[in-house]
Amino acid sequence: MPTAYLDNNATTRCDPRVVEAMMPYFSEQFGNASSMHEFGAKVGDAVSKARKQLQALIGAPFDHEIIYTSGGTESDNMAILSALETQRGRDEIVTSAVEHPAVLSLVAHLEKTERAKVHIIPVDSAGRLDMEAYRKALSPKTAIVSIMWANNETGTIFPVEQLARMAHQVGALFHTDAVQAVGKLPINLAESEIDMLSLSGHKLHGPKGIGALFVRKGVRSRPLIRGGHQERGRRAGTENVPGIVGLGKAAELAAEYMQEEQTRVAALRDWLERSLLQAIPNSFVTGDVENRLPNTTNIAFEYIEGEAILLLMNREGIAASSGSACTSGSLEPSHVLRAMNVPYTAAHGAIRFSFSRENSEGDVEQVIAAMPGIIEKLRDMSPFWRERENASSAEFNPTYA
Ligand SMILES: *Cc1c(COP(=O)(O)O)cnc(C)c1O
Repeated sequence: MPTAYLDNNATTRCDPRVVEAMMPYFSEQFGNASSMHEFGAKVGDAVSKARKQLQALIGAPFDHEIIYTSGGTESDNMAILSALETQRGRDEIVTSAVEHPAVLSLVAHLEKTERAKVHIIPVDSAGRLDMEAYRKALSPKTAIVSIMWANNETGTIFPVEQLARMAHQVGALFHTDAVQAVGKLPINLAESEIDMLSLSGHKLHGPKGIGALFVRKGVRSRPLIRGGHQERGRRAGTENVPGIVGLGKAAELAAEYMQEEQTRVAALRDWLERSLLQAIPNSFVTGDVENRLPNTTNIAFEYIEGEAILLLMNREGIAASSGSACTSGSLEPSHVLRAMNVPYTAAHGAIRFSFSRENSEGDVEQVIAAMPGIIEKLRDMSPFWRERENASSAEFNPTYA
């Protein structure tokens, strides 16, 4: 059975051209990039070339603004912890309710250990930031604002430039977790107020375990990992050369395919979304459909469980993901959908389909053929479906197809 992989926001396949570019750096080119001999010099050149490739994708003015890390999570941690150290006399963090756990669990820890006061800005039912609450949270005590460029679950895009300007008006630093945006949206940091930006290799057809933090020239930073002098003393540890070379190649390819992401990939997503909403009653899209990543749709199928849907989809060779995570035996809907006030009866049955340049029309056809039957089968067994008149929520008004 063919497999339709529609879970690209979780991770992407490493492009074979990326793997090929990495291969020599596991064997012949094994040198340490910091060594003062021929083995090291060649490797050092490869690292410099990769840095230029990544620099081009995000439009960073200077190549030394890129610090390699182990991925998006480390970059997010470094940005926030660094700001708390460099921003003297400021101990407050402003972030949103829909951030990745890489940000939310860090700031919860900082709050609990009394190292920072944290303002979590709410979102509306479409996942858009409450701008009035944001304005009110900013103050001369704000060390850093960390708000994602695009949400991984719904694809909702945030007005990061406007948010950065507002942060700067109170003297705060602005960091964005752009893990889902890099490679999908054009980014030009040369014309931007963003101070720090996180990205990750495996979300753009690069390898896992490599990422970067952009720190704008002139913005002071502190290392998260201390030791040797690698990365100009900003991130210690022998460079992950194959990963860095792979990320560089992935960045080059992402720039090449950017147009396709906006057109062909978006068209596949739209076709799937339209078809499912038409074929399946009581289903709706969550998130801001006006400002959304081109590859993502999050569809709530009311009165059934996401986990059960995924199980049946998996049997049909379809990979996607649900917002709910099975914690301590009870199925909790995702923090993102809860922050949007999506009623429980719908949030439980939300499925995220996320595309990439590797998807085909055949994938969409496969999903369109399978989904209505899967949903109907589960609803036939659902007591909530039978009692839906009593179960539905009054205040939430999604737009149905
Ligand atoms: C995947 C993801 C991360 C984590 O990146 P890793 O490289 O897996 O550590 C952080 N933020 C967002 C928005 C993500 O989607």
